[in-house]
Amino acid sequence: MPTAVAGPEIERLIQLLARLPGLGPRSARRAALHLIKKRELLMAPLAAALETAMEKIEICKVCGNIDTQNPCTVCTDSRRDASIIVVVADVADLWALERAHAINGRYHVLGGTLSPLDGVGPQDLSIDTLISRAHETPVKEVILALNATVDGQTTAHYITELLQDADVKVTRLAHGVPVGGELDYLDEGTLTAAIKQRTLF
Ligand code: ZN
Repeated sequence: MPTAVAGPEIERLIQLLARLPGLGPRSARRAALHLIKKRELLMAPLAAALETAMEKIEICKVCGNIDTQNPCTVCTDSRRDASIIVVVADVADLWALERAHAINGRYHVLGGTLSPLDGVGPQDLSIDTLISRAHETPVKEVILALNATVDGQTTAHYITELLQDADVKVTRLAHGVPVGGELDYLDEGTLTAAIKQRTLF
């Protein structure tokens, strides 16, 4: 155990910050110090924001998104195309697609991907609710925006099978050369997928 340089209250703050993704012990220390130095400007508002968020956060009963209203902002937005459901594994993926303004549809958050090795089966994900949503009237397309990993693709196949008798088009993300990408730097898997899914010029 390294010796503590500050009291237990500050050490606890550092330990909690170190549990955040992307923050190791060093950056957690730096973040804690920054918060302490800016306690009026940053720490107090952050503490208040955390408390309010804690009280108000809800999981959307329709799509599984995280919001402070239920159904969420996305599900209640009438400007969105209700005929499209974009299926993602995690809320982080939904937020990423939204940041990119990639598509103006609705979403469905599965809560993970099928992973027999980790003991994640269909009952652990919100697949049932997705299938029933896909049978609802305005839905015409289900886009499987899942990771290009074995688990992601296993999940995509599984869902596609279940949607066979639904009157929807099931599509998935293109796998290929990233925008700005140089062929020389791509791994074999990406290159092969890009060749296989070539489109008409
Ligand atoms: Zn929602």
